[in-house]
Amino acid sequence: MEAKSLVGLVPPKLWRPESSSSLLIAGPCSAESPEQLMKVAAELKQTNRVHYLRAGIWKPRTTPGSFQGFGVEGLGWLRDVKQETGMPISTEVGSEKHVYEALKFGVDMVWIGARTVANPFAMQEIAEALRGTDIPVLVKNPLSPDLDLWEGAIRRLHNVGLRKIGAIHRGFSWWGKSIFRNQPFWKLPLELKEKYPNLPVICDPSHISGNRGLVPFVAKRGVDLGFDGLIVEVHPEPTKALSDAAQQLTPEEFVNLLTFIDSIGSPEQTYPDELLNELRAEVDIMDDLLLWALSNRMELSERIASVKSNRNMSVLQSKRWNQVLDRVTDTGEKSGLRAGFIRKLYNAIHKESISVQNELLEKI
Ligand code: PEP
Ligand code: MN
Repeated sequence: MEAKSLVGLVPPKLWRPESSSSLLIAGPCSAESPEQLMKVAAELKQTNRVHYLRAGIWKPRTTPGSFQGFGVEGLGWLRDVKQETGMPISTEVGSEKHVYEALKFGVDMVWIGARTVANPFAMQEIAEALRGTDIPVLVKNPLSPDLDLWEGAIRRLHNVGLRKIGAIHRGFSWWGKSIFRNQPFWKLPLELKEKYPNLPVICDPSHISGNRGLVPFVAKRGVDLGFDGLIVEVHPEPTKALSDAAQQLTPEEFVNLLTFIDSIGSPEQTYPDELLNELRAEVDIMDDLLLWALSNRMELSERIASVKSNRNMSVLQSKRWNQVLDRVTDTGEKSGLRAGFIRKLYNAIHKESISVQNELLEKI
């Protein structure tokens, strides 16, 4: 997408007078009861670090029949907690109706979930409902690793005049297995930050990790990579949570996370084993992608072999091959790969492809 600047964005430190440069949002995945909310809010307030309490009221669940959130009833609980503790409150909105309800109950910040962001109709409707309001709005990345879709949603909010806008990196869906619930593909949010230096991008280590053991390390990685804050799921009794039980931290674990992200030292020094595991998990995903691409490429070569044979063309078409080699070398070099390596790699792929095509033609 063409990088027009997002003019006039207000930085998070002006969203709340007391917020430092790093925005911290914490709270349960879902609001489950007045007691649960009050308990976790009291603990989070004690840390003196959390700027907004989070709690999902409307839960976009993958599977029908799963817990869908308490809706407007939960908004009443959130409002009471705000009154009692003075903590600003935030929740997810997925429609214009959600926006109106949230505003009615004095919600101080809203975020738009990964499933909604990918729907331009819903995004436009939400943007129109927010027109003229002054609350911050955070936009999660869409499930698919598609920067344009993420940017498009952000621009819709900017276009209606909103200026307290931020992005949340919550990881991306992927078909391969990995230690992450949602793959971080760190390059994508960093690209967004680079394109829009005034857009705050915060990290959601809970939804990236999917399990509480990994959350502090992903949070620290986000901080070390220069993200502008964190949104972390914290529940008084995570194992009994009605949604995302595996990834929520206890308040005590959250306090430990804060100490950990404050610790000085590079990830290589502070948590080398976990960093290595994370990086290897990312490499495994890339290998899956390479193998997927190679097997699809080989299937296409087989189709091409049968077309060539019908047209009495020889398997080796030098002109076409030179064009392929030039194109991939050029594209590879633009991505920082050395031309010699690309040529070696593609010569090997080509050799295999010719040999598969020849074998196939012998059988015909
Ligand atoms: C959430 O924050 O609880 C949530 C549903 O997130 P996401 O939209 O990232 O899945
Ligand atoms: Mn959740």
